Amino acid sequence: MVVDRINFLKDEINKANYLYYVEDNPSISDFEYDKFFAELKQLEEEHPELKTPDSPTQRVGSVSEKFFPYKHKYRLYSLDNTYEYAELARWYQKFENEYKSGVELVCELKIDGLAIALTYEKGLFVRGVTRGDGVTGEDITNNLKTIKAIPLKLFEPVDVEVRGEIYMPKTSFEKLNKENLENGEKPFANPRNAAAGSIRQLDSTITAKRDLSMFTYTAIFENLENAPKTHYDSLMYLKKLGFRVNPNVELCKDVQCAVEYCKKWENKRQDLDYATDGVVIKVNNLAFQADIGFTSRAPKWATAFKFPPEEVTTVLKDIEVSLGKSGAVTPVAVLEPVQLGGSTVSRASLHNFDEVKRLDVRIGDRVLIKKAAEIIPKVVKVIDDEEHYKLPVYAPPTKCPSCNSPLVSKKGEVGLFCENHNCADQVKAKIEFWVSKDAMDIDKIGPAVIQQLYDKNFITTAVDLYRLTMQDFMQLDLVKEKSAFNMYTAIQNSKNNSLKRLLTAFAIRNIGKETAEILANEFGNLETLMNAEVEVLSKINGIGPVMANDIYAFFHNEQNIRMIEQLKELGVNPKEAETALSDKLKGKTFVLTGTLQNMTRDEASQIIKQFGGKTSSSVSKNTSYVLAGENPGSKLDKAEKLGVIILSEEEFQDMIK
Ligand code: NAD
Repeated sequence: MVVDRINFLKDEINKANYLYYVEDNPSISDFEYDKFFAELKQLEEEHPELKTPDSPTQRVGSVSEKFFPYKHKYRLYSLDNTYEYAELARWYQKFENEYKSGVELVCELKIDGLAIALTYEKGLFVRGVTRGDGVTGEDITNNLKTIKAIPLKLFEPVDVEVRGEIYMPKTSFEKLNKENLENGEKPFANPRNAAAGSIRQLDSTITAKRDLSMFTYTAIFENLENAPKTHYDSLMYLKKLGFRVNPNVELCKDVQCAVEYCKKWENKRQDLDYATDGVVIKVNNLAFQADIGFTSRAPKWATAFKFPPEEVTTVLKDIEVSLGKSGAVTPVAVLEPVQLGGSTVSRASLHNFDEVKRLDVRIGDRVLIKKAAEIIPKVVKVIDDEEHYKLPVYAPPTKCPSCNSPLVSKKGEVGLFCENHNCADQVKAKIEFWVSKDAMDIDKIGPAVIQQLYDKNFITTAVDLYRLTMQDFMQLDLVKEKSAFNMYTAIQNSKNNSLKRLLTAFAIRNIGKETAEILANEFGNLETLMNAEVEVLSKINGIGPVMANDIYAFFHNEQNIRMIEQLKELGVNPKEAETALSDKLKGKTFVLTGTLQNMTRDEASQIIKQFGGKTSSSVSKNTSYVLAGENPGSKLDKAEKLGVIILSEEEFQDMIK
């Protein structure tokens, strides 16, 4: 029955609203919430007699009773949203029909934080209020005063009410969650919840400690002569008054341009240090806006295009246990397949068994999973509904899934380990790592081939790869002469790989490909590195005392010394690290951002290294230059903030001429 479905949807949405707006602890993903909301809206349109004034489609947000309520002078609305470009085009078409003369749009990133209204009288900040239910919000003036991005005095003595979004930078969110975990407190599910939880603290000193910021996106001026006539001009004026306005605002002459903007930012937003869940598209002309008006909960002259979801909930079907090259046994979540960020996801990371315990994740639970750029999805939290408590608590394994040896915890290490170095899965994982792209890059040898070679007893260590003959390969299933030759040659060719690759392939504890490169550049050859003392190692820029000890221990372990000797006997002879062509860029650290016209970022990094310089992935006060191509990311903002020199591609080319 439609009425039952409507009641179900209303209940689910009201429950979600309470947890999201009041408790800052959502139970479903935004995508699922939006799906429920759209379905309810559609059913109410088809059955207007069933639409009631208390329906969530008629209301905005929610107010908690934590702070003093404050009735807004001007109502704060929500935004209608869509996930479809076609709907965006239909939305725009109505204005085209009405106003004929090409309706300009302003595209802004939709910052995923929480909305506030700030009142300034004669240029002085007097009050800050949350959106609440749009009519009444919570007075959080004192907390807002702790945020540096909120000016207490404007550059001009105007009377204005501004709206903006309070947010927590992604890096600060990660840091806060790490601290929460260390202090045994519950981490926040996402930066929005962290921002909402931080700004709605009864104790302002706690808010002051949290790194919050704000972008301003709306102004209502009072008694202002020559007030801006377009939304874009009012944003520029806000900037002049001293507010932070997002630098990525763009004026568009039509909806195609707005669609391009959305497409561009769908990927690029990963480079930003703040969370965005879509693009807000607004009619630019303020007179048109006034004419177009509002529905009961949102302006009709604006809409939000939402990016495909990065967070969804699904059911945890199982926890699979896998064994890594270091013997670490890690849990992997097996999920009811679900669409996430444009692909179907059926597995997610659970990091380690301490994390499983912290999350109290149980097989059969509904879990929130999240996808970030290029990282495999991870389980963020368990939806702790009644069902969760009926499920048995998960017990981590006690035996290795491969060799059945007892699993142990190691001092100073997180998780469980299998200490049997002959354990089949561990041995294969080590060899798989040896041939992997970042290590020896022997792409002809994949996991299936390694499995067969291992099963036939041809290999038990990576060293054995160099003992294999063409005939050995010919004995594998489905391998003919040509592919046997290719595999054999690929292994032989890897003998002269760079030192960096060989050091990476050793899989020394705490040493990844970046550190391997530092070591290769510093020592030039294996022998000198093997003889280096801990003191020498720890003085190298980028190598800490823990790493220095790990490197030293690796090269003084008898088994490893024997392995290196065997490799040498078999002809593995890494190329000495390339020496720099010049030391023109010696001591200089570069950070690259954006798309370069005449070279790829990898090529630019290579050139920098050849000239004795270094590259780094993040901007800090130690960065000498930021090389910025087209559409640079947040690294450019940070460089500007820190006063780091920004180079164009031409300036860089001049530098290395
Ligand atoms: P919304 O967040 O989708 O859109 C309106 C808000 O966008 C404004 O209030 C403002 O805060 C913000 N915004 C950010 N950048 C902006 C810009 N440049 N210009 C204008 N506004 C900008 O709407 P809402 O009413 O705040 O919340 C509804 C949404 O919240 C849902 O669509 C859903 O995504 C989420 N929600 C989720 C749950 C849940 O349980 N997961 C529950 C309730 C709401």
